[in-house]
Amino acid sequence: MIHSFDAVIIGSGLAGLRAAVEVSRQGSVAVLTKLYPTRSHSTAAQGGIGAALGNEEPDRPEWHFYDTAKGGDFLGDQDAIEVMCEDAIRTIIELEHLGVPFSRTPEGKIAQRKFGGHTREFGSAPVRRACYSADRTGHAIMFALFEQCGRQGVQFFKEFHVIDIAIEKNRCTGVIALEILTGEIHLFTAEAVLVASGGYGKVFKTTSNAHASTGDCLGILADKGIPLEDMEFFQFHPTGLYGLGILITEGARGEGGILLNGKGERFMEHYAPTIKDLAPRDMVSRAIITEIREGRGIDGRDYVHLDLTKVDKRIIEERLPEISTFCRIYMGIDPSMAPIPVLPTAHYAMGGIPTDIDGRVLKNEIGDAIEGLFAAGECACVSVHGANRLGCNSLLDTVVFGRRAGIAICDILNKTGRGSVSKESVDRAREAIDTMLRRKGSEKAAVIRKALQQAMMDKCSEFRTENELLSLTEALKGLRERTLEIGLKDKGKRFNTELLEALELNHLISLGELIAHSALQRTESRGAHTREDFPDRDDMNWLKHTLAFKTDKGPVFGYKEVRITRFRPAERKY
Ligand SMILES: Cc1cc2nc3c(=O)[nH]c(=O)nc-3n(C[C@H](O)[C@H](O)[C@H](O)COP(=O)(O)OP(=O)(O)OC[C@H]3O[C@@H](n4cnc5c(N)ncnc54)[C@H](O)[C@@H]3O)c2cc1C
Repeated sequence: MIHSFDAVIIGSGLAGLRAAVEVSRQGSVAVLTKLYPTRSHSTAAQGGIGAALGNEEPDRPEWHFYDTAKGGDFLGDQDAIEVMCEDAIRTIIELEHLGVPFSRTPEGKIAQRKFGGHTREFGSAPVRRACYSADRTGHAIMFALFEQCGRQGVQFFKEFHVIDIAIEKNRCTGVIALEILTGEIHLFTAEAVLVASGGYGKVFKTTSNAHASTGDCLGILADKGIPLEDMEFFQFHPTGLYGLGILITEGARGEGGILLNGKGERFMEHYAPTIKDLAPRDMVSRAIITEIREGRGIDGRDYVHLDLTKVDKRIIEERLPEISTFCRIYMGIDPSMAPIPVLPTAHYAMGGIPTDIDGRVLKNEIGDAIEGLFAAGECACVSVHGANRLGCNSLLDTVVFGRRAGIAICDILNKTGRGSVSKESVDRAREAIDTMLRRKGSEKAAVIRKALQQAMMDKCSEFRTENELLSLTEALKGLRERTLEIGLKDKGKRFNTELLEALELNHLISLGELIAHSALQRTESRGAHTREDFPDRDDMNWLKHTLAFKTDKGPVFGYKEVRITRFRPAERKY
């Protein structure tokens, strides 16, 4: 079946919805999502969205700018960071006007709380900057934007799994998707395509990410020769529920929770004397693993405690209801009575599809764009988060850059006309699916995925070494070969989730490869990328972005400059 729209958006998370609100003011918009729209991972976002409103104490966008640049270990592009922090205040007020029910101060202003790495006066003390809706901030924003999309006639194609993005002669002309219910192939042509397909935390075993966070569209674009930027930087959030990886928001520490080791010590005092438990995530995660490695886990085991027992019970009930429920359901713990066992969990991809500050996808080191192709949200790398994202900056990134991509799309509408997708592209996509269904091998996608996630976790998480990364790249080669032996039990067309898992697995392996090889190249430690064999940051050689190009012979690398406009890289002390 063929559909034609002015713009097609892949993904109904916050980036996709915010862009859809913008573009639908001027043209017809289709949003494709492999889930029910409001089941996107954005709905799970808990703790807050950052903006220097100064509602609870003095704050300034330039302090936010400084914190974001420093938090990202100076790898973020400062022109983009400045745009985001300056636009944050307008963004929050706009969201409020669109219907987001933010939590309030007693006098009725939007309430704000502390979050890791957010400080006043250039690092002197933590500041209340995260706007929140209890600990269901993502949920609140998602539903407001979804309603706005409905009001503006955005057309949703729910449970449509994108299997290809058509790029012909440097121009993106449309998208090919599989309708999950029927197994039918649909072709969407458009003047502009926005990729807003979210993160890929499922490449790791222990993760806070949803099952759908498999990075399919990054894999599709990598197969087409588009580079992926800074893939070595993957954030581990310090406080995942032990053994499960389910997230306990940083808002819990923002409200006064502290981390304790097996000796009952507040160990963050040693690692970040000024802001302690509210240091950036890369530092806190490394500190937790160091405590455990040195035998100071709880009872010598591999976890530490997040202690909320000293926080006023009323605050926990009012501002952290969701994570309290998680603790009760999954651990049998009431967080106001007993400490929570936690361990870092794979959380956020700093790397992704290279874009400029208006979401245009860039295909090389010198910044040439692909016509009609845009990306925003977690799948994109603008790059505002550099080597390590600060908490509450991702929701902000999705809505600020989702909107900007939407405006840039409006600018090109009715200029080139809607593209067409060649019959060969559609036949190729159909053939790829049929080949997978016909194969008779004995391997299972789920088994290979587990092996991938375990290998990534063991050899490429918080701490990395050359030897481990080399053995990982070998292991990934083996897993790739095994995918050729996958035989699907379900040969049917309707709701064939086994087929979808096999498609997702191919992309997960590509992303694993690009992460591992990029990590191997970068012989320094910066932000979330810690090389035990190269423990120092090396600005002489590595103050640059990695561009990893997937080729048949393995990844090939290019590099591009970091744009530093205001804050020179300095030692990162907290
Ligand atoms: C548990 C949790 C809590 C978080 N809390 C916070 C927080 O408090 N503050 C903060 O700033 N950040 C937070 N984050 C990070 C933030 O929520 C995400 O980075 C952000 O929501 C990503 O939004 P997105 O629009 O880019 O993608 P997502 O919301 O992940 O949406 C991706 C969309 O792409 C679609 N899609 C993907 N592949 C395909 C395909 N092949 N075909 C069709 N559709 C496809 C999906 O169906 C989905 O609609 C949190 C993250 C997690 C996991």
